[in-house]
Amino acid sequence: MHRPLLNRNLAGLGTTIFAEMSELAAATGSINLGQGFPDTDGPAEIARAAADAVLSGRGNQYPPGAGIPDLRRAIADHQRRFYDLRVDPADEVLVTTGATEAIAAALLALIEPGDEVIAFEPYYDSYAACITMAGGVRVPITLREPDFRPDIDAMAAAITERTRLILLNSPHNPTGTVFTADELAAIADLARRHDLVVVSDEVYEHMVFDGKHVPIATLPGMRERTLTISSAAKTFSFTGWKIGWATGTPEMVAAVRTVKQFLTYVSGGPFQYAVAAALALPDAYYSSIASDLVVKRDLMCDGLARAGFEVFRPAGTYFITTSVRGLTGAADGLEFCRRLPHQAGVVAIPMQVFYDDAEAGRFGVRFAFCKRAEVLAQAVDRLCRMGAGRGQVTA
Ligand code: PMP
Ligand code: GLN
Repeated sequence: MHRPLLNRNLAGLGTTIFAEMSELAAATGSINLGQGFPDTDGPAEIARAAADAVLSGRGNQYPPGAGIPDLRRAIADHQRRFYDLRVDPADEVLVTTGATEAIAAALLALIEPGDEVIAFEPYYDSYAACITMAGGVRVPITLREPDFRPDIDAMAAAITERTRLILLNSPHNPTGTVFTADELAAIADLARRHDLVVVSDEVYEHMVFDGKHVPIATLPGMRERTLTISSAAKTFSFTGWKIGWATGTPEMVAAVRTVKQFLTYVSGGPFQYAVAAALALPDAYYSSIASDLVVKRDLMCDGLARAGFEVFRPAGTYFITTSVRGLTGAADGLEFCRRLPHQAGVVAIPMQVFYDDAEAGRFGVRFAFCKRAEVLAQAVDRLCRMGAGRGQVTA
């Protein structure tokens, strides 16, 4: 065959860094602080609800395309309960196969070839791929160490007459940045003034360590132009279930549903019943997510600093970013991460693969801390033994 098999627009995407690093962890028997998934499953009663649904024949045949009514109602209740955001479960909620599908369907639905999409790099890896698949052009706004704050002036300057959409992610993966109220207001102002759509990926909404998560859809004039995305993966620690959702105006949700029906048609039936039950868990469950994680964050930040990393303490998510500049002769983060499992028995994720601006991310390395405290302590121990030098933590 003379033509490459992979669509030339997708050339170079290859295997995701998460898959590469998880395979390396398995092959070397390393502690996997790379791909973000917890090493403890979510609440047992929620797992039981999924098993009960399978065994009692609920959701084993194609559920409704928009999601089972119980789950759509539970998502609407969650948005009202935490954010006083009113969405109609009848036509303003769509259940998807993880947030991943919601992002893909949103971009395929909402942009035309040639449309520009503003996104904050380092991006979660599916953003760049999905913008490309939709024929869009990504326009990065670079978050830079040590504080990874969005440059609103740069963003305003990047808007052209071809700009269609802002792809927002707060709390932000991989940097752990939580956008402030002022930053969100400035972004909302730009969206309103230039008549842009906002797709807001809020999968880490319950992992904010100071203050509360603010959905951009709650800002004045934003409800009608924002598609809000979230997922059961992070909030309930069931990343394998792949139940996500999108909420927005009936027109926006209908557009995204049109694409969704040809991507997956419907999403895992029995898990939808379980996630509906999970969303109704009491406040104590939700507040324990951040209060449990913040302890691990501090344990890991201090440990990484002791091991010699320059550490940027995150305000949200379950990721810590570090710089390995000058550490044990690391040429860059990718080389460092490919070597780390062999040298220390720990796996992390290089951040340069999430940047278009290769220099900005060159020495960035991300560690996931959604693991049991003893596992984190063991990882720190291994990293300290590797003897990387002296480190420091930056707030
Ligand atoms: N967006 C971000 C920022 C993420 O970190 C993740 C986690 N993989 C996703 C979307 C995808 O979520 P899901 O597993 O529900 O598809
Ligand atoms: N969201 C997780 C991370 O950033 C997992 C990503 C994935 O495996 N696609 O690590």
